[in-house]
Amino acid sequence: MANVNQPIFILPEDTKRFKGKDALSMNINATKTLAGIIRTTLGPKGMDKMVTDSLGDIILTNDGATILREMDITQPAARMLVEIAKKQEDIVGDGTTSVVVIAGELLSKAEELLNEGYATPLVIKGFRDALAKSLEILNNISINESDRDTLKKIAITAITGKGAEFEKDLLSDLIVDAAIKVEENGDIDKDNINIQRISGGAVDDSFIVDGLIIDKSPISKNVPRDIENAKIAILKYPLEFKKTNTESKIKITDPSQMQAFIDNEQEMLKDLTDKVIDSGADVLFCQKGIDETAENTLRRAGIVSYKRVRGTDIKRISKATGAKLVSDIEDLDKQSLGEVGHFYIEKIFDHEVTFLEECDNPKATSIILRGSTRHVTEEVKRALDDALGVVATTIEDGKILVGGGACEIQLIKELKNYAESVSGKEQIAILAFADAFEVIPKTLAENAGLDTIEMVANLKAANENSKFMGLNVYEGKIIDMKSAGVLEPLKVKIQAIRSACEACEMILRIDDMIAARGALEATGTDDSGNDDSGMPPMDEMGGGMPGGMPGGMGGMPPMM
Ligand code: ADP
Ligand code: MG
Repeated sequence: MANVNQPIFILPEDTKRFKGKDALSMNINATKTLAGIIRTTLGPKGMDKMVTDSLGDIILTNDGATILREMDITQPAARMLVEIAKKQEDIVGDGTTSVVVIAGELLSKAEELLNEGYATPLVIKGFRDALAKSLEILNNISINESDRDTLKKIAITAITGKGAEFEKDLLSDLIVDAAIKVEENGDIDKDNINIQRISGGAVDDSFIVDGLIIDKSPISKNVPRDIENAKIAILKYPLEFKKTNTESKIKITDPSQMQAFIDNEQEMLKDLTDKVIDSGADVLFCQKGIDETAENTLRRAGIVSYKRVRGTDIKRISKATGAKLVSDIEDLDKQSLGEVGHFYIEKIFDHEVTFLEECDNPKATSIILRGSTRHVTEEVKRALDDALGVVATTIEDGKILVGGGACEIQLIKELKNYAESVSGKEQIAILAFADAFEVIPKTLAENAGLDTIEMVANLKAANENSKFMGLNVYEGKIIDMKSAGVLEPLKVKIQAIRSACEACEMILRIDDMIAARGALEATGTDDSGNDDSGMPPMDEMGGGMPGGMPGGMGGMPPMM
């Protein structure tokens, strides 16, 4: 019989493990480090980051979501925060930087409490109550406004500080016009707005199109370039004969057989093109290839043909024009066609683009985004995505808040009032939660090179009398943010605080980190900022993201 007291190893010897305080402080440090990196981009005076993606491409951006996506973070807790911040972008389209900055600060406050001897469940309970109260407070101080003027200010606030800032007036007009156009019963289907980037030219050459533009020209030159009431066909079927991958041989013994073979092929192609012609289509978008002979036949019949059209464009064309996605040529007929009021081809900068205007679906809208280089148009597009997100959210919800730190100062004030009504240790947790929100005005001031202590003190004083006083980061003055038009959707703030709390709580609950194959090596618990090295991706650590780790690992027996 084996000695029952002998240690039993259930994990490989080289497994790294951090328990209790070590795990917690490692995770808090990693999140604080991440927040420290991201915070310099917050607000109108935030700086840009230059990130090199996995393919070696350079990305220049001020957009928190993009930086997080490209940074390739490996420390599991920091990755969890990144996942949560990305969700913010998906849900409301803006506020990603705020999520990370607030989460970092909440964790820092929590750490102080834990160091003072408060128990984790107590801190979590206090933070949860404070969160619920915060949502109530923000809702109370929000304003009901969503007229065009307000929407434009909302869009401008989202664009301010991004690469697109110098053209924010024009760009916010484009976004608001597009959003208003696609609005249906208070709902915005962002898929109806296609933002098409075309490099070459200036950002102020950007414009809106009532319909679609496809960045492609037809295969033949001599085709009609402008058609009224054009019938559109979409084919996911090749108008050519497949060139097989494996070598096939046809044995031909005399020249007549060769001719018969060619004739046969031509005959079959003619059948295919006849189908297109008989359907009555004026324009054909084919996702597959089109053979030269077929192309010539279609051109002679006056049909404008496009080959190898991208799948995403095919879907858009179908949605906008009502044309069916025909995958078997036998199904191509009059009924499968879509229609646009105006089809035309035009040159933009150095290449031809196809316009499909006045579509069957009146909601189809495009913004043609111009800019000198790809780097410019990409960064402007990210700003436009944020702006579209906040405008859509405002149209849908109708409630807004003022920015520049004003609502955070109000939140702190009201939370502190609320804390008075709560007794004992929980009160301390609520006060710590409230104080965490100072990080927003503080960071806005810091990024603008202002004296943070002075600015926050002035903000607090000014907010005693008015709830709209925020920080003018350009002049270092406290001004009325409502008059200044610095507006943000209530939902973005609410979601940001929720996401930050969610991340904070998840991280506080982890008291055991187990990683295989020395994966946690080189992960110090110091403040050096090098925490995000050599850690395995979350999914390698067992359990899915994000909740998987605490739950999945919780039931594990001790290692020895
Ligand atoms: P996020 O990714 O969180 O949206 P941003 O870099 O867009 O980060 O910064 C948002 C913050 O900047 C908000 O707190 C907002 O109130 C503030 N802000 C935006 N425009 C202004 C402005 N003109 N003056 C002062 N603060 C502003
Ligand atoms: Mg923003």
